[in-house]
Amino acid sequence: MLDKRKFFIGGKWVDPISATDLDVINPATEEVIAVISMGSEADADAAVKAANAAFPSYSQTIKAERVALLESILEAYKARHDEMAEVITAEMGAPCRLSRDSQAAVGVGHLEGFIEALKAYEFESTCCGDTILREPIGVCGLITPWNWPMNQMVLKIAPALATGCTMVLKPSELTPLSAMLYMEILHEAGVPAGVINLVNGEGPVVGSALSRHPDIQMMSFTGSTRGGVAVTRDAAETVKRVALELGGKSPNVVFADVEDLEKSVTRGARAVFSNTGQSCNAPTRMLVEKSVYDDAMQIARTVAENTAVGDPAEDGRHIGPLVSQMQYEKVQALIQKGIDEGATLLAGGTGKPEGRNVGYFCKPTVFGNANNQMTIAREEIFGPVLTMIPFEGEEEAIAIANDTPYGLAAYIETGDEARATRVARALRAGMVRINGTDINWGSPFGGYKMSGLGREGGHFGMDDFLEIKAISRP
Ligand code: NAD
Repeated sequence: MLDKRKFFIGGKWVDPISATDLDVINPATEEVIAVISMGSEADADAAVKAANAAFPSYSQTIKAERVALLESILEAYKARHDEMAEVITAEMGAPCRLSRDSQAAVGVGHLEGFIEALKAYEFESTCCGDTILREPIGVCGLITPWNWPMNQMVLKIAPALATGCTMVLKPSELTPLSAMLYMEILHEAGVPAGVINLVNGEGPVVGSALSRHPDIQMMSFTGSTRGGVAVTRDAAETVKRVALELGGKSPNVVFADVEDLEKSVTRGARAVFSNTGQSCNAPTRMLVEKSVYDDAMQIARTVAENTAVGDPAEDGRHIGPLVSQMQYEKVQALIQKGIDEGATLLAGGTGKPEGRNVGYFCKPTVFGNANNQMTIAREEIFGPVLTMIPFEGEEEAIAIANDTPYGLAAYIETGDEARATRVARALRAGMVRINGTDINWGSPFGGYKMSGLGREGGHFGMDDFLEIKAISRP
């Protein structure tokens, strides 16, 4: 068992001021793999002081220095990429192939996106006869979740570094090990002392202390909508900028005119089961045109039945466990709710898959004959659960797709290009993917409505970390 009870403050690993211990559990084995400290308001304050002390000099660095720093981080990260993948598998249960090829690999892709964006970024321009400066906003508080730990850390740390900000990171208490490894990598790469600091702890304690701290100018939060609301409330007192990446219940609109129904439904269902359903942008509501709805339900059922659930330490295309006992119970309760509200259980259901009694494993599940008012169509389940809803015609498809408090992503499957463009424009979501096309590095990532505020990635992500100053001369 690893002893990871220190915090990274002022360029050093230091003992907490006041903290309790928390076990880090491997969700596949339920074994304790490490112990961390859960810090206090005093620990958060010490980290903010270090970030504040580093700000005057780091904020004055020139763009070329920061490009060189990000390039150095990229090299240091690549050297420890496989180690990062192993840590992510151990702490959150992503199968090792997914950890290597996606969970850890996004740390390279996003960083490259930010390096390109920084090189092209104009921090000084003119407008209306005035000089316009874009300056680092100050000390930033970064709060991240557990489901794509590297993804969310890089989407915050890289733009903060690129713009000249200093920061305090509070990662999820479920996945602190990847964050602590990333601190080592950043230190090795030459990030100056105090520019990045890490304090582990509970959201309502350390997260809230950062959100309320008068010396923090901006909070960047990724997590549940509930958490995002709490951060926004806490930040209001000191009028901080708040950037939020929150939950989703993304629609996947499958029209009868698709080129290959099996292909379209299969990729949609697989995208829901991938990462054991723990992705904010998963297409969890599949809306299918009535004339092909029965066929689509059969295809999705087959995909679920063919989705293996297995040991994340083994190589393969199977899915792993959910992250925690709490997440397991939440997913079980929502599957039961779907059954109770009258949706047809086509595959999966409650309980653990056969032979998987240890670990937080659950069954890939598909509900058919659902409607958009059911709980399983409205709430983010964050497990491998697909809800299939029929529609008649484009207008109804758009109405159902937009009938959600969320607006993170949307997916369209159609063989008609004009329709794809029309529907993409009508959907109230931050990202629309047509026929399985993925978003590119450096593109804006984020949502409408209760899915968030602001955008991450590339120059859009950098804008959030900058203040704008207009200088007028006679
Ligand atoms: P969570 O909100 O429980 O926790 C996220 C982080 O916020 C953790 O570090 C947690 O300690 C902290 N936190 C919790 N309460 C807080 C509070 N009151 N004040 C300050 N910090 C607080 O979410 P989670 O379960 O870790 O992550 C899953 C959620 O994240 C899902 O809803 C998912 O959709 C969302 N998510 C969104 C995106 C996106 O980009 N939109 C990406 C990944 C995950």
